[in-house]
Amino acid sequence: MKQVLKLFDTYEREVRELKPLKGNEIGLYACGPTVYNFVHIGNLRTYIFEDLLHRTISHAGFNVTHVINITDVGHLASDADSGEDKMEVGSRRTGMTAWEIAEFYTSAFKDDLVKLNILEPTIWCKATDHIEDQIAFIVDLESKGFVYETSDGIYFDSRKLDDYGYLARLDIDGLQAGARVNLGEKRFVTDFALWKFSKPDENRQMEWDSPWGIGFPGWHIECSAMSARYLGDYFDIHCGGKDHIPIHHTNEIAQTQASKGTRLANFWLHGYFLQMEDSKMSKSSGDFLRLETLIERGYLPLVFRYFCLQAHYRSELSFSWESLKAAHTSLMRLYEAAYSWGAPSNISEEYYVRFVQHLYNDLNLPRALAVAWELVRSPEPDGIKKATLLAFDEIFGLDINAWRPKQVDIPKEVSSLLARREEARKSKDWNAADQVRDEISRLGFSIEDSKDGPIIKPI
Ligand code: AMP
Ligand code: ZN
Repeated sequence: MKQVLKLFDTYEREVRELKPLKGNEIGLYACGPTVYNFVHIGNLRTYIFEDLLHRTISHAGFNVTHVINITDVGHLASDADSGEDKMEVGSRRTGMTAWEIAEFYTSAFKDDLVKLNILEPTIWCKATDHIEDQIAFIVDLESKGFVYETSDGIYFDSRKLDDYGYLARLDIDGLQAGARVNLGEKRFVTDFALWKFSKPDENRQMEWDSPWGIGFPGWHIECSAMSARYLGDYFDIHCGGKDHIPIHHTNEIAQTQASKGTRLANFWLHGYFLQMEDSKMSKSSGDFLRLETLIERGYLPLVFRYFCLQAHYRSELSFSWESLKAAHTSLMRLYEAAYSWGAPSNISEEYYVRFVQHLYNDLNLPRALAVAWELVRSPEPDGIKKATLLAFDEIFGLDINAWRPKQVDIPKEVSSLLARREEARKSKDWNAADQVRDEISRLGFSIEDSKDGPIIKPI
């Protein structure tokens, strides 16, 4: 029975079947990080979700073109198009140039993705490499009458679109009423910058010439311009974190709708936040946890990946050290079980079908993980369990097959006891074997019997 992949589209607020717009190809665009600082584990939750999406789409038999951009200019400190460019602020904080910090944090971000087993996207692109595309996009919007100029930049006139804000179901009038006093030269609260002029006294490190004067592009235009370049004017899936719904993605849609007449993507998918107790992680406050922080505390990066698999991408997930520790314990149990099963044989059809059912039901990874645990506890032969779990791991990405028990220094006394136990077992003297096991455990080691012989571990 062929199963169909269904996903929740934020635009229509419905779960529906993913059908490629063209042939067997799926274009997937994911908003990348603003590289003025390290990414935090909240950001990484979103990239893990997008990786699971990528793997699932490939699993369903489609060819994925996965694009991730790098925002290395134009993301202002405030969403209201005021405040400084985050890159320039980052440059002052670190003493590096804006170009240097972009390179430094991009490479730190890519290292994190590798550690988390996140598949390399098909295309990396960065905003500063696509300034011409962005200018051309704005010129087109200007020719169609969607822009106006103020003393600090070129703005998108959001009222020219009847359904501006549909993605977020924005209450436009309510927003305008609340913001009237702080509008500055902006005509309407939801208007946003397409191009900002460099201020004469500002000494910006990143600026370019344009038909409107020297300056830099706004944040939203980069994603409309780059996604069009690599995936076309209307492609299959656009995703990012939930915070992007009311502003960034709303504005990407507005620009593309005005210029190309499409809603940019057939599906809009959003990952919910990873939260620290009652507050969200904030990169700009500087107070956040990095993957490196977890590693320093002795956790494998894939423990964090496992931690994320336990929650559906459309529910918030609270981070605590206690729950990370529980994820560590579970993952180790999974690794040890799989290791003890020896070589894989064939896949259990029954378990596999159930796994795929959950996966294709809007990426229900918690349910898929529960099927894996049922399998672990089942009476299926070890070879079947191993083969089936390894097949699940094509999606989980936990590197189950690569895991090996830690090499521990086993004292001579323990190894000779172990040899005695083996002899006792060979001659089926179970009492003697048990006694030796007790002696070994008094010395601080436990024994687990596997197909490849006994595994000895410190208690
Ligand atoms: P930024 O660098 O702020 O543009 O964020 C990069 C990605 O991480 C975007 O897709 C955001 O929506 C997402 N994101 C930001 N904070 C969190 C969080 N606490 N939990 C999950 N995703 C987040
Ligand atoms: Zn974006």
